[in-house]
Amino acid sequence: LAKYWNGPVSEFATLQPVVISLCLMGLLSRYWNGNKFGETGDYGTWRTKQELGASLPNGKVYEGGNYLGHNIAAIAVDGVGRVIDYEFNHNNVFDSSVEHAESRLVRRLFALSQVYDNWETAAANVTGGARGAARPMSLARYAKPPVALTAEPAVVRGYSTLLSAVTIYTSLESCAQCSGIMTLASVENIVYLQWDQGEFLVGNLMYNATHSASEGFTSPRPISGDEFGLSYYDQLNDGNDEFTANVTSNPFYRDGTYTSSTPSVTSYLCTDGAMEIYQSGSAEFLGLEGTLQYPEWAPPVDGALTNAQALSRAHAFLSYASAIGNRGTPHRI
Ligand SMILES: [Zn+2]
Repeated sequence: LAKYWNGPVSEFATLQPVVISLCLMGLLSRYWNGNKFGETGDYGTWRTKQELGASLPNGKVYEGGNYLGHNIAAIAVDGVGRVIDYEFNHNNVFDSSVEHAESRLVRRLFALSQVYDNWETAAANVTGGARGAARPMSLARYAKPPVALTAEPAVVRGYSTLLSAVTIYTSLESCAQCSGIMTLASVENIVYLQWDQGEFLVGNLMYNATHSASEGFTSPRPISGDEFGLSYYDQLNDGNDEFTANVTSNPFYRDGTYTSSTPSVTSYLCTDGAMEIYQSGSAEFLGLEGTLQYPEWAPPVDGALTNAQALSRAHAFLSYASAIGNRGTPHRI
């Protein structure tokens, strides 16, 4: 308690914002696209800050370009605190309602481990066992350059436990599909920045149903932003409630032939209000350097990064993800 002895109780009671959650807000802020019903038309009072200067005869023009999917993204972090990769919702790219950020990301992580198939450590562990048993798959080691792997003791893990130390951070609470995929993938935790009332807490139900069972798959533990004092969690939920209450009388979008006035969290995630919350989180993330309460703390895991190291890597990741100009590395779009 020495650190807090002479300070206010409020400081003792305030949790450090989680670095990767804010990094995720930076990522979404960078690739914000609110054009759910197209770049032109009229999004009324909801998106005035995203209007471009020129208007067309049939409506206004909005920034963001072609709508690839909803403003929902996810970042995966390995067991020692390193960012592995990210994905966005890409429903519109594929004309599909199932191209969600978390499920895309899980598939991406498995694909990455196939690309990185280290013959040296694998060869040392060939035991003639089951197909795939020789693969030295451990994402705790994934992010290191290949040369570092050759000197390390091999860890043989099958694909069923490959992601068992991975935490996925997603901007919106996961649906049944994504919770199911993350369960099959043995993802350890799923952190989310906003409640999705349309998902009926399915991730919680799955976790409660599985985590104390001695056999079978275990769902990832859902961790809401509220659990670690993320102020943006309440802001996003309140913003969505306000949108829901008003959109029926103040349509989200209209053009000559179509009007959208249905409450929808993905429509809310196009609004100026949501965008500004994400911009605040992004700005906080960029200003975190030197403000960590416990920069030298690291979890008791071999090779775990300290908080300061994790922050430094997260900053570097966001610089990379922002510079490449794509909403996902595999497809270059
Ligand atoms: Zn989903």
